[in-house]
Amino acid sequence: MIVVLRAGIPASEVERLREVLRGDGYECEFESVLQEQFLVCRSVSGAPPADAVSRLMASEWVTKVFAQETRYPRIGIERGGSRSRVAAGNLQFGRGEFGMIVGPCTVEDEPTLLEIARFAKTIGAGGLRGGAYKPTTSPYSFQGHGQAALKMLERAREETGLAIVTELIDVRLVEQAARAADVIQIGARSMQNFPLLREVGQAGKPVLLKRGMGCKIHEWLCAAEYIADAGNERIVLCERGIRSFDDATRACLDVSAIPAAQSLTHLPVIFDPSHASGNRNLVEALALAGTAAGADGVMIEVHPHPERAIKDGAQSVNFEQMSRIAQKIWAMRENGLVAEVGLEPTTPRV
Ligand code: PEP
Ligand code: MN
Repeated sequence: MIVVLRAGIPASEVERLREVLRGDGYECEFESVLQEQFLVCRSVSGAPPADAVSRLMASEWVTKVFAQETRYPRIGIERGGSRSRVAAGNLQFGRGEFGMIVGPCTVEDEPTLLEIARFAKTIGAGGLRGGAYKPTTSPYSFQGHGQAALKMLERAREETGLAIVTELIDVRLVEQAARAADVIQIGARSMQNFPLLREVGQAGKPVLLKRGMGCKIHEWLCAAEYIADAGNERIVLCERGIRSFDDATRACLDVSAIPAAQSLTHLPVIFDPSHASGNRNLVEALALAGTAAGADGVMIEVHPHPERAIKDGAQSVNFEQMSRIAQKIWAMRENGLVAEVGLEPTTPRV
């Protein structure tokens, strides 16, 4: 149950309401999101009394009560008076802001990374991506330059001011990643690594949570709820393509997941057309489709010489392709050619 409170509620009234709720078998926590204040309650002793809601509504400080247990008490759409914005420097997502993250699949060497970072600035991107630790299907594939790559990312940030987005795969490396990253990425393969989700929820940095390739939107949102429950609500969801029966593309970009997720959560939702398509010639089409669908941002793999990239060269666009994609995305946004579904909360689902 979520109890929505009027702004300016005195602390003594919050305490009184807590007591009322405790008496009715609820454990609750006081929460503030944007201008809104809430009591997020969980029933801990069987079915609560039928008149629990009317008792709460009797207070002039209570504006609304979502009586049933919500599936997403912290990240659910019911929580916000408006959508959340997540920011890391100039990289901003949500509530009208579109975040663009570009960069190589994996950090290769410092000159190449700096070349990409300088290019990223010229097209209006706010974030630089690059894997230091790569999750790989085969144990024999290149798995990243690790800490050396994190240092290169830090240098790219120093020079360009771009926000660094890099993946964390190992619960033992949280501190190291949190030092280098402005946004910590949790990859598709780790989306249901629950201890990792809890750790990253305590790392004090925004989290980019990719959707597992075989996961339902509900499972993805529950994964975000883990991070939020550990204390961090600065989460950006990223649709990156799901497994389908078709192997003409690497995965299948679930465009509908963008507005669908936005109708269920106040968190920003972005997408990744690179891993979805697996093919640089399809990236522009998918990038424009997701932007048109109302996404809060995009993440695209870029390399100055894709044919020489250590990883994911086939899906990495070159600078010329990326410039064109960025120009079109910014033009679509400036001209309002994007769906507004999800910009306002839909009817609360409880
Ligand atoms: C990545 O972004 O580098 C990556 C490995 O993506 P995903 O987790 O979506 O496969
Ligand atoms: Mn990749």
